[in-house]
Amino acid sequence: MIRTKGDYIESLRQQKLNVYYNGKRVEDVTTHPAFIPHINSAAKTYELALKPENEDLMTAKSHLTGQKINRFTHIHQSIDDLIKKVQMLRLISHETGSCYQRCVGFDAMNALYMTTYDCDEVHGTKYFTRFVEFLKMIQSENRIVVGGMTDPKGDRSKRPSEQADPDLFTRVVEKKDDGIVIRGAKAHQTGAVNSHEILIMPTQNMTKGDEAYAVAAAIPLTAKGITLIFGRQSNEERKLETGIDAGNKDFGVVGGEALVIFEDVFVPWERVFMCGEIDFSGMLVERFATLHRQNYGGCKGGVSDIIIGAVALATQYQGTANASHIKDKIIEMIHLAETVYAGSVACSAMGSKTGSGAYYPDPLLANCTKHNVTRNIYEISRLAHDVTGGIMATLPFDQDLRSPEIGKYVEKYMAGVEGVHTETRMKILRLIENMTGGTCLVESMHGAGSPQSQRVMYQRLGNLPQKIKMAKVLAKIE
Ligand code: SF4
Ligand code: FE
Repeated sequence: MIRTKGDYIESLRQQKLNVYYNGKRVEDVTTHPAFIPHINSAAKTYELALKPENEDLMTAKSHLTGQKINRFTHIHQSIDDLIKKVQMLRLISHETGSCYQRCVGFDAMNALYMTTYDCDEVHGTKYFTRFVEFLKMIQSENRIVVGGMTDPKGDRSKRPSEQADPDLFTRVVEKKDDGIVIRGAKAHQTGAVNSHEILIMPTQNMTKGDEAYAVAAAIPLTAKGITLIFGRQSNEERKLETGIDAGNKDFGVVGGEALVIFEDVFVPWERVFMCGEIDFSGMLVERFATLHRQNYGGCKGGVSDIIIGAVALATQYQGTANASHIKDKIIEMIHLAETVYAGSVACSAMGSKTGSGAYYPDPLLANCTKHNVTRNIYEISRLAHDVTGGIMATLPFDQDLRSPEIGKYVEKYMAGVEGVHTETRMKILRLIENMTGGTCLVESMHGAGSPQSQRVMYQRLGNLPQKIKMAKVLAKIE
């Protein structure tokens, strides 16, 4: 069983996944500077769970075995569990200032738990029992699961089976007596290079003709035929540097996403949880999306807290902290962060019990939360740049500060208020730069689905006819 950060790193070292970074195969992800920050972030989900003061948020009692388990492997059994999930995410963000990746698989497991149950009721399939066995193993071994939803999708105007290349959506290419064979890829897979299993799910609602694409299955990332290609991030080279230029060096910018390729990967039947049931594909996608959108006010609210703290410090270091417009802008940042957090708590509080017994957040409010994140995090970052000043974008290198020839100039001219070292000021500016630009903003926009996918849900769940009816009653229109 994986308990400590050390156990986790050792488990990754032993896996020897087929990972590529910048064109080269990586033998050991645990010693590669591009991956260490992401591993450190994910490791926090183990480390914090061992602290007695976090027990209530970071652990839970398994409803399957009665054992104490890491909350990231738990199936929500109450509204309280849904709220604790959000509180837990904000707590971890405060330690990492970055994505810790493990929520995607957590949400995939909860979505599959509910949906396999409902599918079995209708189709008489045996997916739920199989899934519960898989879940028990994940809980007892405390493994990290990647939630594999997004397919590459090729030509977006065409259905999966209409694509020029049929592999652009992940599909079943063969059914055998003992299992199925999978081909295709999953894109933007958060934490994939430092996880243990991938839980693939259909990427969208499937209709007649797309049965081969309605597939859900759990696959160890060590399976034969899997290749992982790590994605490039903004500030990528900073992770390879030493000194203060790296910004949030220990934990990185975002989650660390990879393209995961399945080249005829065999999956035994006991790990298959959907195979052709097109009528449940849309439900699975929607539930996963809701469960993941629920999170964003927790994790991004927590990340925002660090940005706000960093910006407030920067203003103290440069003597602007008492200007009334600066104070007001920081207050506005707090308002924006608490607004997204309030959304996450609200959709959890308004959650409900599904047929399986698992609890599910309110989908309309969860979508609203994520939609606010696509705006508020940009606004928080805009205010951070406004308040911090242009210096954040033109700061000399760490090595300039350390240079025997020009270090004295950097020291002298980059100084702020008396009593604060120039290096201290540079450290906080680099942290703000790291946390408010490039890849982290795109993560807030497209992680858990792009803004348009939330607007589609507004259209479906917003109940416009009822709103029209209420207006008619007050206006006395027949
Ligand atoms: Fe979890 Fe947030 Fe990262 Fe998604 S972006 S995996 S919710 S920390
Ligand atoms: Fe995400």
